[in-house]
Amino acid sequence: MRPFAIFFALVLSFTCLAQSPAQSADTGTPPKTTYLLAGRLFDSTSDKVRESVVIVVEGERIKAIGSASDIKIPEGATVMDLSHSTVLPGLIDCHTHLGSRADRYNELYNFRDTPFTHAIFAVGNARKTLEAGFTSVRDVGSEPFLAVDLRNAIGEGFAIGPRIVASGPGISITGGHGDLNNFSPQTRVAMFPEERDFQIADGVDQVVHVIRAQIKYGVDVIKILSTGGVLSRGDSPGAPQYSFEELKAAADTAHMAGRKIASHAHGTQGIKNAILAGIDSIEHASLIDDEGIRLAKEHGTYLDMDIYNDEYLLNEAPKHGLPVENLEKEKLVGKLQRENFQKAVKAGAKMAFGTDAGVYPHGDNAKQFYFMVKYGMTPAQAIRAATSSAADLIGRSKDVGTIEAGKYADIIAVDSDPLADVRSLEHVSFVMKGGVVYKNEHGGVK
Ligand SMILES: [Zn+2]
Repeated sequence: MRPFAIFFALVLSFTCLAQSPAQSADTGTPPKTTYLLAGRLFDSTSDKVRESVVIVVEGERIKAIGSASDIKIPEGATVMDLSHSTVLPGLIDCHTHLGSRADRYNELYNFRDTPFTHAIFAVGNARKTLEAGFTSVRDVGSEPFLAVDLRNAIGEGFAIGPRIVASGPGISITGGHGDLNNFSPQTRVAMFPEERDFQIADGVDQVVHVIRAQIKYGVDVIKILSTGGVLSRGDSPGAPQYSFEELKAAADTAHMAGRKIASHAHGTQGIKNAILAGIDSIEHASLIDDEGIRLAKEHGTYLDMDIYNDEYLLNEAPKHGLPVENLEKEKLVGKLQRENFQKAVKAGAKMAFGTDAGVYPHGDNAKQFYFMVKYGMTPAQAIRAATSSAADLIGRSKDVGTIEAGKYADIIAVDSDPLADVRSLEHVSFVMKGGVVYKNEHGGVK
């Protein structure tokens, strides 16, 4: 079969197999109503907890919320008993790489893996992420256009996973964080050579083109790499990798198309360039200084600081082939990033929860909460960074991020008090997405 014929065959089979929960509405049957009994509710509209609350879910959305004394549950209704749990909005990770695995740091995988390998990993990783309580993610960097396809497959009900706000590959300068560096010029791994894999762009014209091309193929968000990185070869995390003019053109092009733009930036100057260019979130922000924090506040730029994965990179990744160059770079930035996180929290900068999942194993996303609290947040602040603030950053506040009438029924529960011990989020006992239960250790359906 020619490639396009294979493509159409796949589309057809996806369409035929799709069983979206929303489809019950099309069949004429009334949407299903479920009553959740929440012992404690942190709805993420404030830092407060309410006790003995009933959440009424109709179809894929929340219909009403009220005290157990106010909401009458009809005889024979479907009831989920979470009366011994704390109920929260589904969590949101604003920085994942669902196509990546954390046990493949050996550089040989650059040449062994096919794009299909990564897509297959992504399907498994998406499920693990959802079962860990993350009902939405922003996926910020994979082969073209893995995240878009996965988003669609999950949306159609063919694969199980979180809602995905999908980017294309992170856009990089030649020789930058997104390029394959320090091999012979004869060495090349390319899917779309004429488009430089929708990833490598130099100068304003190429940057504008690659963003328009990514949008043409369905991305929700743009990811650009404004400084060097830790897990790339031959570049320095501290060094800027795009000029201010290139970043400004990138932000303007994305915004003109109604897309937000996230920038990978470790280095002090690259962070400022990205903020001043109008980029919506700074990923990593490791070496941000006081002026950078002030600028982020002034421009309303979110900081999305992945302060858990240092633990994994230093202790586990070397066992999986992490080259010494990358390990040394992580040692340079990891500790400073945590100190700067603390400064940014104290200064009141806008913070969202993003972990760089894929650098460490998917499903461990919630391990970052502990470090956010250790480095200056209250548990409520950390949870709001992963719910209401994250929803604001990804542009989905209308649908997710809080437990309120009208929003998607993306609801999780934990069995101990996350406001007393935020680590309780590392074990989520109940996960509902769009009114469908994907995990329930209580078995409490009446
Ligand atoms: Zn990343």
